[in-house]
Amino acid sequence: MDMSIARRRMVEKQLIGRGITDAKVIEVMSRIPRHLFIPEALRDQAYGDYPVPIGEKQTISQAFTVAFMTQSLELDGDEKILEVGTGSGYQAAVLSQLADKVYTVERIASLARQARRVLDQLACRNVNLKVSDGTLGWENEAPFDGILVTAGAPAIPDEYRCQLSIGGRLIIPVGGREQQDMIRVTRLSESDYREEKLLDCRFVPLIGSQGWDGR
Ligand code: SAM
Repeated sequence: MDMSIARRRMVEKQLIGRGITDAKVIEVMSRIPRHLFIPEALRDQAYGDYPVPIGEKQTISQAFTVAFMTQSLELDGDEKILEVGTGSGYQAAVLSQLADKVYTVERIASLARQARRVLDQLACRNVNLKVSDGTLGWENEAPFDGILVTAGAPAIPDEYRCQLSIGGRLIIPVGGREQQDMIRVTRLSESDYREEKLLDCRFVPLIGSQGWDGR
């Protein structure tokens, strides 16, 4: 399969065809080789319209979801962003082209190692990655202009609100283990936040001290 043709089709049908309008997001997702973030045996599914398994019972999110969440951050290019749930590293690679610095946290070490390898191969030098419980954010590096959580939380951890800069945006799936609402929280002032529901969604659970129990 010709991956560049498959990628062009993905962008036209799954992104532009479904209402993604941010030209920078479209350009970056047209360029990044998504298939490199997917285990070799499943690479022919890289540009399909569904999440793909990446090992450890985790998935790379559907391309539309990556585009929609990224677009919802409304980036200018000079931001410092936290991603929770590195997974394959694909979302971090997309953010690395659209923001100044990216901090990404993954709880499963083997996924983090593989993601780091691909991010290095693509020279995404502005991505900092650590293995940790991302429900606590990344306190030493806060505040962040954007926080993007790519696993479903039972409720919004207070840490995320505190680690958001004023004017910053948090995008997070919140709800049950199977089904969530994608919420955007904008920090308006020291103590004021605005919350908007953007979409219905289905993510793997956010597991950790401020998330779901791992059993
Ligand atoms: N953003 C990823 C990508 O581009 O491939 C997809 C992420 S996958 C849907 C969700 C990821 O969140 C999984 O890799 C999972 O291990 C991770 N995760 C779940 N709970 C976490 C936590 N408390 N801290 C960090 N990562 C977590």
